[in-house]
Amino acid sequence: MPSDTRALTRAARTRAKTEDIPYTAARETELAIRERMDADGESYEEAEAFVTDPGNQLLCEKCGWTVGMVCPECPGCGCYNHSCTGWRHREYMHPDERAELEAAEAECPECGGDTRTGYDCTCDR
Ligand SMILES: [Zn+2]
Ligand SMILES: [Zn+2]
Ligand SMILES: [Zn+2]
Repeated sequence: MPSDTRALTRAARTRAKTEDIPYTAARETELAIRERMDADGESYEEAEAFVTDPGNQLLCEKCGWTVGMVCPECPGCGCYNHSCTGWRHREYMHPDERAELEAAEAECPECGGDTRTGYDCTCDR
């Protein structure tokens, strides 16, 4: 809708001016705000607070981690799930992946059985 586009342009210009950022960046912010309003039914203020929170900026496009999720123990994002044992990875990991990791950790080093359930593992530990 043309009137929407005009409103967006106006909002982006105002934001660019008040925040002293490039117009394109301001426009992206405004678009992201509108997306959230449409998708989640948030008010402008709620959506703006989320979008402009530095912790919510996208850190990695591949895994979708945001800056607020960054892991202090590795280069940072969810792509390092298997090479880093930082707690954040476990917290934000996909449930399937987490299950896989936990299963791998529960594997008995002696027989390969599952030490959580005792299944297949008869070692005395
Ligand atoms: Zn890490
Ligand atoms: Zn990543
Ligand atoms: Zn065992």
